[in-house]
Amino acid sequence: VGTLYVVATPIGNLDDMSTRAIRTLREVALIAAEDTRHSTPLLRHFGISTPLIACHDHNEREQGAALITRLLAGEDIALISDAGTPLISDPGYHLVRQVRAAGISVVPIPGPCALVAALSAAGLPSDRFIFEGFLPAKSAARQSRLTAVQREERTLIFYEAPHRLLDCLTDLAAILGEDRPALLARELSKTFETLKGLPLGALRDWVAADSNQQRGESVLLVAGWSKPESEDEVDPESLRVLDLLLKELP
Ligand code: SAM
Repeated sequence: VGTLYVVATPIGNLDDMSTRAIRTLREVALIAAEDTRHSTPLLRHFGISTPLIACHDHNEREQGAALITRLLAGEDIALISDAGTPLISDPGYHLVRQVRAAGISVVPIPGPCALVAALSAAGLPSDRFIFEGFLPAKSAARQSRLTAVQREERTLIFYEAPHRLLDCLTDLAAILGEDRPALLARELSKTFETLKGLPLGALRDWVAADSNQQRGESVLLVAGWSKPESEDEVDPESLRVLDLLLKELP
């Protein structure tokens, strides 16, 4: 029985391709790619001539059966997406699930992932975080999603498309608060890489004032909610009751 390798590829900088990723992609019998046309230049660059097959959101479940037949016949297969780690806001979940359910081993080949790269350089608490992926495209749905995480104490991480970045920041500032510390990580590993840390309101204004900041790919990180200091204080009514009780004590 073969193995399914889940192989991370660069998120912009080809130098981030690992030696192990290249070797795996050369040695497997077949590469299942999110978009074969997109991946062809990358594979050509590294002298990888392994046959490609498309495996994307629309055919993943059907393709799974065909790939499992080949794995059971002893072939090794690699799964790649357009960029970064497959399954992370990318196709692959259904395939990995099916392959594992068939008792076939799935081996990750770790590498670039935009959320991890952004978090590693953000200077926001990194011991606990939640990845929210892409927020809904429509404002009402986005706002209700953000309302649900308003009091989330862990660092929040979002992916965003360039044309929605400003709308997303506007809703983030409105719902999570203008003063909440945040960071925009744009074009990671690429020529115009920018990491800008500002409170949400100021970050929104900074992006609004410079349309260049709305280009390319971005990760948004927002500090988790922290209890306002005043909520730590005991409320006056409790103090009054405590005072009365203390007077009754012998
Ligand atoms: N699988 C990828 C990963 O491991 O990060 C994510 C794929 S998802 C379809 C694309 C989104 O990831 C972009 O809209 C952006 O939010 C983020 N992203 C990918 N590459 C990036 C980069 N170089 N800089 C900043 N964000 C990036």
